[in-house]
Amino acid sequence: SALELASRAPNTMLIDGDWSGGTNSNWFDVIDPADGSKIASVVNGTQDDGLRAVAAAASAAEGWKAKSPRQRSDILMRCFHLMTERAEFLARLITAENGKALPDARGEVSYAAEFFRWYAEESPRDFSELAIAPSGANRIVVQHQPIGVAVLITPWNFPAAMATRKIAPALAAGCTCILKPAAETPLTALAIGAIMLEAGVPAGVVNIVTTTSAGEVVNAMLHDPRVRKLSFTGSTGVGKILLKEAADQVISSSMELGGNAPFIVFDDADLESAVAGAMVAKMRNGGEACTAANRFYVQRGIYDAFVQRLTDEMSALKVGRGLDAGIQLGPLITPAAVAKVERLVLDAVNRGAKIVTGGTKIAGPGYFYPPTVLSEVVPGSDILNEEIFGPVAAIIPFETQEEVIALANNTEYGLVSYIYSADHKRAFFVAGEIESGMVGVNRGIVSDAAAPFGGMKQSGLGREGGRHGMLEYVEMKYIAASW
Ligand code: ADP
Repeated sequence: SALELASRAPNTMLIDGDWSGGTNSNWFDVIDPADGSKIASVVNGTQDDGLRAVAAAASAAEGWKAKSPRQRSDILMRCFHLMTERAEFLARLITAENGKALPDARGEVSYAAEFFRWYAEESPRDFSELAIAPSGANRIVVQHQPIGVAVLITPWNFPAAMATRKIAPALAAGCTCILKPAAETPLTALAIGAIMLEAGVPAGVVNIVTTTSAGEVVNAMLHDPRVRKLSFTGSTGVGKILLKEAADQVISSSMELGGNAPFIVFDDADLESAVAGAMVAKMRNGGEACTAANRFYVQRGIYDAFVQRLTDEMSALKVGRGLDAGIQLGPLITPAAVAKVERLVLDAVNRGAKIVTGGTKIAGPGYFYPPTVLSEVVPGSDILNEEIFGPVAAIIPFETQEEVIALANNTEYGLVSYIYSADHKRAFFVAGEIESGMVGVNRGIVSDAAAPFGGMKQSGLGREGGRHGMLEYVEMKYIAASW
């Protein structure tokens, strides 16, 4: 059961290699979204706890930086292997506190573990440069050094992957860190912390601060002069607050913020693969992903067939407790998440959209919303401007390529886009025109530990994954040398 799984994860903070009880005796509840029941109490960290974690990370910095790249690599590779060994437990724990269907949780664990493997492999790669200055008078040496203590803030939608996507490159680059997981899903992060200690990560190199006072605790950390890096994944609103706070000490900031992904289907697309891709782009993680297809733009010639086939697939999904066998769609994270989806659907319908399937929340307990297809969604509807973060596909017809490029770009976001067309010349042209950091061409999923994940416009700053992801944690040092 969710309760039993939760009892097998740590519920106190990890500071300086110690499962500290924290400086106060406050606890907060972790809820199973499938029935609203409490499954764990976790220590509620204070500003003091945050600052103790910064102190621990700062004192561990020298030792970690002094390790050889190969030593860091070996430890990260052990994290990968241990995480892979414990994959089933971790997947079930994710489902217990997040609600997602177990197959999604299993997919997340393997994706999350890949960051340890990738950065274990990246850690020994050194991209230093040595050049002769154009004048011939001196040498130009460019070295990469660890940027320093990193504060890592993660959301609840991928409790494992968002943590490892930040921790692994930070450690590979030689940085120490403090992870602040979302209060909805702290157990997975703490369980990963335990795995990292077991894999040989030294005390203080990774610290985990759990709290419901994220604003206060993070603010204190960002004003501690020992902190030099912030990496945040979450909403654009909170990202903007954090960028302002980071400005006080000019802290290097990486931001993975919201998305509003268009999913474009041209007349010549292969219908079945477009529908399969749409199901992944929309329904992976129950729609609770910043990469989730938020707006389906479908060309008129294939429109009716696409709506019909997508509806077949959506209405066939098995909804229920994520831990139960055969379930494909679990609950949303909170009652507020359900209320937001309800509001967006109601607004779309009021403006003229048709509900093809779903459209009414499922009675409790648990925070369930059914797979829903909305057709003929009218421009200007809130659902086209806000992240849905739920199992609702909003479909809009279009006529021309020019028109759909303009529609796709008509948003302040620019994280990911999806394009389906049998004409590769066209697909790549449109991919070039679209303002997003990532594009899936005839593919409904782009995430890969080996590739640079990130957004343009208000979807973020910087990239995670690939060799590029490690650059976020290094400071370039240029030495002009005469010899
Ligand atoms: P979501 O809508 O996915 O919950 P948030 O941006 O609210 O996204 O949360 C993402 C992460 O940011 C969580 O770990 C949350 O606790 C943290 N967070 C929320 N508000 C603040 C804040 N003012 N300062 C620092 N962290 C915050």
